[in-house]
Amino acid sequence: MEPYLSIVIPIYNEEENIPVLWERLSKVMAEAFADPAKPWEVVFTDDGSRDRSLPMLVEIAKAEPRIKIVEFNRNYGQHSAIFGAFAETRGRIIVTLDADLQNPPEEIPKLVAKVEEGYDVVGGWRQGRQQNDSFFRTMPSKIVNAVTRKTTGVKLHDYGCMLRAYSREVVNAMLLCKERSSFIPALANSFAKRITEVPVAHAERAAGESKYGLWKLINLQFDLLTSFSLLPLQMLSVLGVLIAFLGFALFVGLMAYRFLHPEGTVGGVFSLFALLFFFVGAQFIAFGLLGEYIGRIYQEVRDRPRYMVKKVHGAE
Ligand code: UDP
Ligand code: MG
Repeated sequence: MEPYLSIVIPIYNEEENIPVLWERLSKVMAEAFADPAKPWEVVFTDDGSRDRSLPMLVEIAKAEPRIKIVEFNRNYGQHSAIFGAFAETRGRIIVTLDADLQNPPEEIPKLVAKVEEGYDVVGGWRQGRQQNDSFFRTMPSKIVNAVTRKTTGVKLHDYGCMLRAYSREVVNAMLLCKERSSFIPALANSFAKRITEVPVAHAERAAGESKYGLWKLINLQFDLLTSFSLLPLQMLSVLGVLIAFLGFALFVGLMAYRFLHPEGTVGGVFSLFALLFFFVGAQFIAFGLLGEYIGRIYQEVRDRPRYMVKKVHGAE
């Protein structure tokens, strides 16, 4: 029988977390989704883990036929891992979840209930975000959230929370997207009609360390900015007009000053330098942004696969 509910979990070096994760998850599944008319499955992606994560998952899957494991040949990142698992899901409702137990599996029934109410996308909104996630981890998330709200136009509180539920239609639409760099929560929203958020608990990472450093986050932010809007490009033109106008106004002002005070000496060289730095800075920003888009076009044109699946364990 086709599963009704699919749970998707990306795994990258999570050997310390897998036993507890599975213990808690299987308990929730057994209690909340015992209805035989609504069968479930769990799809893990092993995103090129270097530790014992994969053999551990395979071991668990031996005793539980409802588990599938998508094995990647190397590490492709969290969002690609989720895509890899999406491709293997068959449920009507799909829930994604982090493996580090920051997203409590106990919240899954809440999200599923919302999708059953008719929402296409249900986001988790983390309550009591753990502040011992370092400053470098929370500060970029705040920026990510703010920029995403602006660029996608959907006012949600928390885009970073990966405890989310989707309808089959939205997942299918996402699977049709060929672009390499995609930020799943924003992509999902662009295909959804009804979107909502439910508050979910947020715990500390149970073990191991965050796989996101500052650099990975900057990358993610650029993904977001360039794949979901042309706003930065449009801002460039606005900035250009603004600078040109300022430059012109300054020129007029200086000329007027010269005529009114022929005896006064303005530090001409200094104002020139100030102007120059201003323009040079603006140009670098502009080139950088253009480069970012061009780089992305180059990547898309090469059309490399987003990930390579080595093997799917547990598939009939
Ligand atoms: N993850 C992954 N591939 C990666 C990085 C992370 O599959 O390259 C998985 C990781 O195993 C975890 C989830 O994505 O299940 C979230 O990762 P992490 O907890 O490090 O991110 P954070 O909570 O710091 O945002
Ligand atoms: Mg985490």
